[in-house]
Amino acid sequence: MNIHEYQAKQIFKDFNVPVLDGIAVTTAEEAKKAAEQLTTSKFVVKAQIHAGGRGKGGGVKIVNTPQEVYEAAEKMLGMTLITHQTSEEGKLVKKLYIESAANITKEYYLGITLDRQNGVPMMMASTEGGVEIEKVAEETPDKIIKTPINPLFGLQAFQIREVAFGLGLNKEQSKYFSKFASALYAAYAQKDAEMIEINPLALLDDDRMIALDAKMGFDDNALYRQEEVLEMRDFNEEDPAETEAGKYGLSYVKLDGNVGCMVNGAGLAMSTMDIIKYKGGEPANFLDVGGSANAETVAKGMEIILSDKNVKAIFINIFGGIVRCERIANGIIEATKSISIDVPVIVRLDGTNAKEAKEILKNAGISQLITAENLNEGAEKAVNIVKEVTA
Ligand code: GDP
Ligand code: MN
Repeated sequence: MNIHEYQAKQIFKDFNVPVLDGIAVTTAEEAKKAAEQLTTSKFVVKAQIHAGGRGKGGGVKIVNTPQEVYEAAEKMLGMTLITHQTSEEGKLVKKLYIESAANITKEYYLGITLDRQNGVPMMMASTEGGVEIEKVAEETPDKIIKTPINPLFGLQAFQIREVAFGLGLNKEQSKYFSKFASALYAAYAQKDAEMIEINPLALLDDDRMIALDAKMGFDDNALYRQEEVLEMRDFNEEDPAETEAGKYGLSYVKLDGNVGCMVNGAGLAMSTMDIIKYKGGEPANFLDVGGSANAETVAKGMEIILSDKNVKAIFINIFGGIVRCERIANGIIEATKSISIDVPVIVRLDGTNAKEAKEILKNAGISQLITAENLNEGAEKAVNIVKEVTA
């Protein structure tokens, strides 16, 4: 789960990670009022969407008076912001953050992410702040300082000194940075964050360092013990189909292909996607209906898959273990009655009571149902059917 910049900065404040004063607003009037409350001579008006690259897209404006804040806010609210991190449709701006502006001497990059290869958090820092870090990683990887953190010991003082040295900070700046980095790691660890990104981390003319931007992502599996974080969830920023799936205990992730997949178990879901690709197709989604698949979840799964207009066929690949295949077969038949399915549905059921299930499906006489004997055949049929209709 991700949160907005203004929310991440609230967490930063709680952990004494230096940020400038700011107020989140939803109208231009509120924006002006917020500016009048801030003691500063320059303001930044920032669009709050779950995507970076706002500066280039017109979502970050520096202005001089509360009246100018009002005007900038009026323009920004309701606009659709398209950046390199949003989809082509962009994101509607509904909230702004009005912040004191800073006089920046230099921009750095500082982040903590999970190093999945080594299974530990990793601090990443670079003198190349303000620009896309992915670009830096690709073109000048030596300009990124990487520091693995042992979660049992935490971020050590000597590690911070190494990073400060790598960034070329002087003594005063290093002292300031040391507190900054410790506070940031505390926020990362205590809030069960998966990712924190500060780009830019700004060095000011008085040697202070401030998080000018803030991004935070959290481990979904830890949200049960992070009530405060969970309250920051903004469903406007999430895929509605994924949210809907979550309500029914289904794990759904939309992808760009056209073969819809309904599978039980994350491992089988992934191998199903693999085999579709292997056969020359493109999966439209990852969907795990879970171990307790029943008629209702199957119907809901179909509905969610079909809400994606790219889907040209659905491949149902269920292995009956605890869940018995004939129940799934009945679920599929129920689903075809309750929702209109206008694409072919390829079904491969194996495991407990697979024979009975096949009988049930055959006797149902539903024209768009196509059965497959095994995974290989099912994937092949699904991919070929999609190829035919899109040819
Ligand atoms: P992003 O484009 O979505 O990553 O948004 P950022 O919060 O990083 O803002 C984009 C850019 O605006 C930054 O890289 C800074 O150069 C600039 N910026 C943001 N806040 C301030 C500020 O307080 N003072 C100044 N001078 N520039 C700022
Ligand atoms: Mn940024």
